[in-house]
Amino acid sequence: MSTTAKKLSLKDKYQLLTRDLDWETTYQPMDAVFPYDRYEGIKIRDWDGWADPFRLTMDAYWKYQSEKERKLYAILDAFSQNNGQMNISDARYVNAVKLWIQGISPLEYDAHRGFAMVGRAFRGAGARVACQMQSVDELRHIQTQLHAFSQYNKYFNGLRQFVHIKDRAWYLSIPKSFFEDAMSAGPFEFVTSISFAFEYVLTNLLFMPFVSGAAYNGDMATTTFGFSAQSDESRHMTLGLEVVKFMLEQHEDNVPIVQRWLDKWFWRGYRLLGLVGTMMDYMLPRKVMSWGEAWEIYWEENGIALFNDLARYGIRLPRHHEVAGKEKNRLTHELWSTLYNFGNALSLHTWIPTDEELDWLSSKYGEIFDRIYRPRFLYWREREQAGERWYMNRLPLVCQTCQIPVFYTEPDDPLTQCVRETRWNGMKYTFCSDGCKEIFEHEPHKYCQAYIPPQQIYQGNCGGATNIFEYAAWLNLDYKVDTSEYNGSPDQQNWVRWHASKIGSTDEAA
Ligand code: FE
Ligand code: ZN
Repeated sequence: MSTTAKKLSLKDKYQLLTRDLDWETTYQPMDAVFPYDRYEGIKIRDWDGWADPFRLTMDAYWKYQSEKERKLYAILDAFSQNNGQMNISDARYVNAVKLWIQGISPLEYDAHRGFAMVGRAFRGAGARVACQMQSVDELRHIQTQLHAFSQYNKYFNGLRQFVHIKDRAWYLSIPKSFFEDAMSAGPFEFVTSISFAFEYVLTNLLFMPFVSGAAYNGDMATTTFGFSAQSDESRHMTLGLEVVKFMLEQHEDNVPIVQRWLDKWFWRGYRLLGLVGTMMDYMLPRKVMSWGEAWEIYWEENGIALFNDLARYGIRLPRHHEVAGKEKNRLTHELWSTLYNFGNALSLHTWIPTDEELDWLSSKYGEIFDRIYRPRFLYWREREQAGERWYMNRLPLVCQTCQIPVFYTEPDDPLTQCVRETRWNGMKYTFCSDGCKEIFEHEPHKYCQAYIPPQQIYQGNCGGATNIFEYAAWLNLDYKVDTSEYNGSPDQQNWVRWHASKIGSTDEAA
């Protein structure tokens, strides 16, 4: 009697991949093979309770991804052959790209490494496979970003040294410390921080405004990689929600541990997003929406609804979320002012918004903007026009936890600087907020080790630099080429020249 091999369904294939390839070890106890998935205190009764909503097999994965790659690279080729860099709204826009390649792209690579490590650490095969695929996705994300941005690197300053400055620049230690905090935690905390708090709760605030901002500003390279990454993102977000629900369902003892992680990573994620908000309000010549509006839609509506859903597990809203609400009309003005003041040591340019842009900010932020921030910007503009562009000419004191300069103001008082301190083991540590202080105080042994660039300079550990100019040189930044004021910079002058000569430009860009 002849038989034909039965064709397996995708579901069967996934079952074989994630369960049939797994086994209980005998030469070594399982605890020795998986030493990391218990010490955080998370209790898992049954790893088979893990349900991956996508049930993606490796062959399906490679097929989908390669289709996306073909489309992406066809568009990137067209972008570069048509001098796509000439079609952006304004050369100031490229500074958003600089911030992305310096601050965010390296996090994609960290995510690649982090998920590879976490995939190894879980004893449940379903979770391991999901992490493995995300690890491969993240490697693809940094590759596609570098390819998309490389066209800008040919025409604009400030992008070329992004690898060199990743571990050295004071402002890049903000995203770097965020991710390395997660990577040096246990596997469950890593997945909670990155997959849930970052990808699920906050990614809308990161990805949507950036990609639609790119589209609004004529940046087809970024728009295309953004869409190409979007289907991966939805898988990652689902993994994040899945892992949190799985932990909460497996054992009631997990609830307080997960709650503390949600508190911590909400606050860290929110602090990091200040950079994205500032990009939206200040660095996009054509605006999409304001940070305040994005916060209302993505957090105050969607984020809070999500936490209401989790209430049935005993989860409450993250600590200090109301502080974020109080800061939403001030955050980006305070951060842009800081970047403007310390612009001598940035690998990007800063500027005072045009009158039209100031009016847009007034329309979005109302009375508080006109009372506090507009006069400040007008004063600085006056100084600049008088040939005395204002810089601090030193580096700021930064928060020991989030590493953002200590310049935000009190939640209930926009004119008083918010500074918190704690003493631990004979040392004084400074923080930007109660949220960051609490994170430190829970794990002082961890955060006391943070590499704080401004302190390293004063200790002589930054190429012997003794001032901000020597420090910027140690970052391989050309003074007033890569750094400082936009007006009068080579980027600005080139942009005017290219458009005056109309070479390679289109009517759109004029
Ligand atoms: Fe990614
Ligand atoms: Zn902080």
